[in-house]
Amino acid sequence: MEPSIQKTELKKPCVNCGAELKYKPGTTNISCEYCGHEESINIDGNGFAELELYPYLKEMGAQKHSEEISMLHCKNCGANQHVEENYKSLHCVYCSMPLIIEDAYIEDWILPGAVLPFQIEKQKSFLIFQKWVSKLWCAPTKLKKASLDPQFTKGLYLPYWTFDAQLSAFYTGQRGEYYYETRRVRNAQGKMVSQRVRKTRWYPASGRVSGFVDDTLIEASKQKAGRIPTKIAHWNLKKLQPFNSGFLSGFVTEKYTIPLKQGHLSAKGEAERIAKRWCRQDIGGDTQRVTSMNMSLSDETFKHILLPVYISAYRYKGKEYNFYINGENGTISGTRPYSFWKIFSAVVFGVIIIAILVFLAQG
Ligand SMILES: [Zn+2]
Ligand SMILES: [Zn+2]
Repeated sequence: MEPSIQKTELKKPCVNCGAELKYKPGTTNISCEYCGHEESINIDGNGFAELELYPYLKEMGAQKHSEEISMLHCKNCGANQHVEENYKSLHCVYCSMPLIIEDAYIEDWILPGAVLPFQIEKQKSFLIFQKWVSKLWCAPTKLKKASLDPQFTKGLYLPYWTFDAQLSAFYTGQRGEYYYETRRVRNAQGKMVSQRVRKTRWYPASGRVSGFVDDTLIEASKQKAGRIPTKIAHWNLKKLQPFNSGFLSGFVTEKYTIPLKQGHLSAKGEAERIAKRWCRQDIGGDTQRVTSMNMSLSDETFKHILLPVYISAYRYKGKEYNFYINGENGTISGTRPYSFWKIFSAVVFGVIIIAILVFLAQG
């Protein structure tokens, strides 16, 4: 196979004013922030490229769907980020450390097969964040101020691997059926009482299960700054669009740090859990034991996909805090600092109130 590394990264200037066009959330357009000019993104009518897995598990570079991108590596937390448009200064989306543009380097990557474009506008994400912060109990005033500063919130496309495969598994096990026996036991008061006890009768079982495992979603990046909270990590994959770099302009894209090989191992583990569940359903009865299982996967394909989140990285007293908003549905989650002085004054206030009440009661 011929190495065919190409570049699809195109910077589109506005036809009216020359400014860079950026992706407009919730649409399939790129637009100009200055004059409002919009252009539609050319979406590939052939749908997503599901790539055959095995050629890609070998060395990078010889695959069709790979190209080069410029990467900025954060020395503080290890995140690899790519920015589509021209920029002057940039801070790491996870830890807010400045990234040095001179340090940018070119790297190979497997092109995303699909992207779930941001559905929520940046402005809306500030509002969600502000609303959340304003409801926090005893949060430092500095944090509340930070929530008003848009430069703390950035839109980020997170890398994921998804895997499809045809699964087949032979199993042996046992089917358990419940029955009940009544026995006489002495209770805590020393009285004899009857008690119903559940027991299980086991029968041998064996068979074969098979089916299609669709879109096993595996995280493709890991940072020191912490994982994306599970609460916000649910996207409607039906909204995926065939990849086009137009969707990335105006946002930061993170490059996968978990190699495909490792992602594939996790996916296999997930397939095993699915196979076990299918075996249990196949065995039936009240309870099941799977004693041996021989699973095989065939027609394995994968996609590298990008999913949207807004991240707010915030430093407070030397500690890192992150807030996450799902860029598709607006769910928010975050860690938060407490203000010592706010809690302290609340406690003092409470003590004073009690003292006054006690004083009044005595008087
Ligand atoms: Zn313009
Ligand atoms: Zn960082």
